[in-house]
Amino acid sequence: MDCRYCFYLPKSQYFSQSSVHRMNESVLQELIRQMMAQTVNAVSFGWQGGEPTLMGREFFEKAVALQQRFGNNQQIGNGLQTNGLLIDDQWAHFLAEYQFLIGLSLDGPRQVHDYYRTTIGGKGTWQRVVDSAKRLLDAGCSVNALTVVNNYSVQFAEEIFEFHRELGLNFMQFIPCIETDPQQPEKVMEFSVTATDYGRFLCQLFDCWIGSFVNGVPTTSIRLFDAVFFSYVDMAPPMCSLLPECGNYVVVEHNGDVYSCDFFVEDRWRLGNILEDTIIDLLNSPLQQKFGKLKAQLPEQCCCCPWLKYCRGGCTKHRLGDQHSHRANYLCQAYKMFFEHSDKKFKQLAAEWHKKRQLEKKAIRRKIYQQIKSGDLKVSRNDPCPCGSGIKFKKCCEPFFNERNDNKIDAQ
Ligand code: SF4
Ligand code: SF4
Repeated sequence: MDCRYCFYLPKSQYFSQSSVHRMNESVLQELIRQMMAQTVNAVSFGWQGGEPTLMGREFFEKAVALQQRFGNNQQIGNGLQTNGLLIDDQWAHFLAEYQFLIGLSLDGPRQVHDYYRTTIGGKGTWQRVVDSAKRLLDAGCSVNALTVVNNYSVQFAEEIFEFHRELGLNFMQFIPCIETDPQQPEKVMEFSVTATDYGRFLCQLFDCWIGSFVNGVPTTSIRLFDAVFFSYVDMAPPMCSLLPECGNYVVVEHNGDVYSCDFFVEDRWRLGNILEDTIIDLLNSPLQQKFGKLKAQLPEQCCCCPWLKYCRGGCTKHRLGDQHSHRANYLCQAYKMFFEHSDKKFKQLAAEWHKKRQLEKKAIRRKIYQQIKSGDLKVSRNDPCPCGSGIKFKKCCEPFFNERNDNKIDAQ
């Protein structure tokens, strides 16, 4: 493929030693060995390219075999981001069998998708991608539609949302297209989206999302909205751009070079190489910490912004020109429009969520109380609370239990 807005092809300049860039077996093995050696319960890999399926299925068969070999009963997650062109039945069955979460690049209906996503010969790719989507869904894969919002597709929020849903792609992720002109880094390329257009797009998309709720429950997942909701219920959002700092993942290139972020594969953010260093040391390295803290150095206008708690100044990449310059985010206006539009509804959803959680917690406490009273459950004050909160029993559910008053649990 030769998408006009691709930001990754120019990165090949950093790997000029060879014209073909493929991860060899020793790098793959070392990568997986180090990842599986971590003392954590869950390890996740995100396979991206270029186009990762160009490595062939055998590469991924090796990868899952190595994960089993070096694993220590951890939960293993694999995500694969693909343009879909090479996905045949064998691929679909393999990906389903190993429960890969697929990110499929699809920009919406035919005329929207084919506007920029063409082959090198200029032919549209929509039909082939749609066929792949059906193949993956039929095989039982979990598929996320990854949609780039550019200066053209930004006009079609509702059409894109409806199109994905009709195809059965109920998990969606939207990526604003903002690429700078290599000659003038403070200017964006013509296919980039403007902040006000993107703000309007997000508001329209939000209304579509809310419109798809059934009995107060969403029937569609939109990654940005799901993540913002986490902040509204005081939990850390699972999306780096909404966190106060960056730096909790790294990119490993085909030759083992490690970089701070896939948007920053450039010499100044090269952390090291996994054949000489360990990923864990590179994640904790001063350079990666410096990268992470760049995001927290906010421009003045963010510090007094009512949306800071949710927005966190956006992605560092979108501070155009120089990320050290404390410039406002290129998309600032879009975020302001979106939060002004959605705040009331998010607050209402958060209040409903808290109410539901309270009721669930009450039911769990009642059950625990009855089990303790009947002698079926023994728990000491310093044990982790049996409700699963991770907090000590004496600081969690125990204060709610009162031997002298069985009804007290209901009253809490
Ligand atoms: S620069 Fe952007 S994409 Fe990269 S880690 Fe930071 S917020 Fe995430
Ligand atoms: S909306 Fe704009 S000013 Fe407010 S926190 Fe986000 S980027 Fe900063």
